[in-house]
Amino acid sequence: MTDRTSELAENLARVEERIAAACAAAGRAREEVTLIVVTKTYPASDVRILHGLGVRNVAENRDQDAAPKAAACADLDLTWHFVGQLQTNKVRSVVGYADVVQSVDRLKLVSSLSAAAEKEGRELGCLLQVALDAESGERGDRGGVAPDGIEELAAAVDAAPGLRLDGLMTVAPLAGPYAGRQRAAFDRLMDLSTALRATRPAANMVSAGMSADLEEAVAAGATHVRVGTAVLGVRPKLG
Ligand SMILES: *Cc1c(COP(=O)(O)O)cnc(C)c1O
Repeated sequence: MTDRTSELAENLARVEERIAAACAAAGRAREEVTLIVVTKTYPASDVRILHGLGVRNVAENRDQDAAPKAAACADLDLTWHFVGQLQTNKVRSVVGYADVVQSVDRLKLVSSLSAAAEKEGRELGCLLQVALDAESGERGDRGGVAPDGIEELAAAVDAAPGLRLDGLMTVAPLAGPYAGRQRAAFDRLMDLSTALRATRPAANMVSAGMSADLEEAVAAGATHVRVGTAVLGVRPKLG
């Protein structure tokens, strides 16, 4: 094993232990939670090592960084998640490698993703990103639709050729009433997911929790956690 391989293996084992402990504490089966490793700012060689260690879900947040990395790893059976704020001029590129876009937060993005998915002749998974700190009708500072905008966006994805509504995603807010209250934020996301699933039972993905708060997300009922730093190390400022 190279130094980097053993470092990633150790980090991954520690994160795996945390997820398993959180599942046990919540009375959930370990299989109910999928680990997505956020590889942003780290090289394709790390993605390859992670794949060798059993990782099958990776996430990126910037197309410029992600597109060449995904191309360099095209031979690996990986599911690529796009989790960053997405400009419509990047959509065609992102749809070329992403299996799931977790940051769908406006109607214009839905139509753009749909057109690109149709052109590629493929079905793209979509999560609606919810900004729990956004006011009605607004979007969050880091993207995301306000909770009262979910239904309109979900209906748009339902009606969009090439798109499949998979569920909801959030990032715990840094400001507003949920600042520092991750568990409350994730409980709120779960309530919104329950409401969504009442009419769309297949949209059952709940993506919440990062390196610092994955335990709270698992306790609340998240099905997917997105972990970067705890696996790969602290990133340089950008990203
Ligand atoms: C970077 C990022 C993560 C991972 O954050 P860490 O704190 O490094 O675990 C998760 N979700 C999104 C949307 C991100 O941009």
